[in-house]
Amino acid sequence: MSYIDPHIHMVSRTTDDYQRMAQAGCVAITEPAFWAGFDRSSAQGFFDYFTQLTHFEPRRAAAYGIDHYCWLCINPKEAEDPVFAREVIGLIPAFLDRPNVLGIGEIGLNKNSRNELAVLEEQIALADRFGQLILVHTPHLEDKLKGTRLILDALRRNARIRPERVLIDHVEEHTVSLVLDRGHWAGMTLYPDSKCTPQRAVDILEMFGQEHLCVNSAGDWGHSDPLSVPKTMLEMRRRGHGQSLIRQVTFDNPRRFLSQSARFRKRG
Ligand SMILES: [Zn+2]
Repeated sequence: MSYIDPHIHMVSRTTDDYQRMAQAGCVAITEPAFWAGFDRSSAQGFFDYFTQLTHFEPRRAAAYGIDHYCWLCINPKEAEDPVFAREVIGLIPAFLDRPNVLGIGEIGLNKNSRNELAVLEEQIALADRFGQLILVHTPHLEDKLKGTRLILDALRRNARIRPERVLIDHVEEHTVSLVLDRGHWAGMTLYPDSKCTPQRAVDILEMFGQEHLCVNSAGDWGHSDPLSVPKTMLEMRRRGHGQSLIRQVTFDNPRRFLSQSARFRKRG
């Protein structure tokens, strides 16, 4: 069965991962800009990263029959210095014409600081100014609930941002209904044994319904699993959920959200 992974950091993964994903049914992925595991020493480091995401990585994915899309931003972990952040934000408009760019992301908060919040608001305004979709990262562990509330309020303060054009990832049991109640899409970002696992994701689907929920694998440079989405599909099947529900969560829902960008090519 075909699936879409709407949040995976393929620059951190090998060609073997692309091959295994294609064999498991992956037809399209979207890759948000994120922290590289170290702070870049200059804005030029971001220019090079955006070039990789918009020029080279789509070609790597295409070799396995996978459509590659991306999101551009300065991630919250490197957004503590607003002057530096503004220099990076200034680079983004020149890349928005690339055919695989769907929007601004993954923006959000890391430590919920005042500077991070200011940079978040500027990137929400950037998405508004250029009519871009938004993909959001919410902080982990004890900061998640507070950070999610701060992010939702920042989004609401920009009255021109339509809630259905925003996907909020890294939701968990205690934040998912906050996100859905505001009219956003919610994504469960899966990890093999920390944060949200495929089993927990299916629990959340059973508790909160599947109408506006997606699952994604994160697949970054840390301990993570690029096959988390097909593993969630297996877990749903094991619990007796039907094909149409599995397809809705892993294909139709991300397709509905992503299709709000004219750049996204629908695949059957
Ligand atoms: Zn991410």
